[in-house]
Amino acid sequence: MAACNPNEFGFDVIFAWEDEKDAQNQNAQIGGAINRDDITCAICLLVLREPVQAVDCGHRFCTKCIGEFHLINPGKCPKDWQDIQVFPDVGKKREILSLKIRCKNFTDGCKWQNELREEEASKMFPNFN
Ligand SMILES: [Zn+2]
Ligand SMILES: [Zn+2]
Repeated sequence: MAACNPNEFGFDVIFAWEDEKDAQNQNAQIGGAINRDDITCAICLLVLREPVQAVDCGHRFCTKCIGEFHLINPGKCPKDWQDIQVFPDVGKKREILSLKIRCKNFTDGCKWQNELREEEASKMFPNFN
C-alpha cells in the first residue's frame, strides 16, 4: 500500500521480533520490551513516522497524520476527542528508527533484516550502500 507515496504516513514494516521462531535471539528480547501499541500511529495504524505525542492523553501519531486530522478537527484527539496539544516525541522516534525490520517475504524464506534507520537512509540516498 501507499507505494506511490512512500513518505506520506507511517512505516508499513514488519519488525524482526515479530516472528516467534526468533524467540531466542536478541531481537526478541528487545521486542519483548516494546509494546507495539506504543509505536503505532492511532490514525494510520502503521508504525509512527516523525512521531508526536498528545500531552493530555498520551496518544501518539505521525506528524502528517495528526496534521491532516487537525485541519478538519482542530486541536482534537482522534481517539478520545479531548482537546490536546501535541509535541514531537524525539525519544520515540529514535527508538523506532533503531528497531530491526525484516523483509516482508520472510515467510518465503528471505532472511533480510535491517535497522529501520538504515533502510530509510538507503531510500533517501539510493547509492549509499
Ligand atoms: Zn500515522
Ligand atoms: Zn487521545
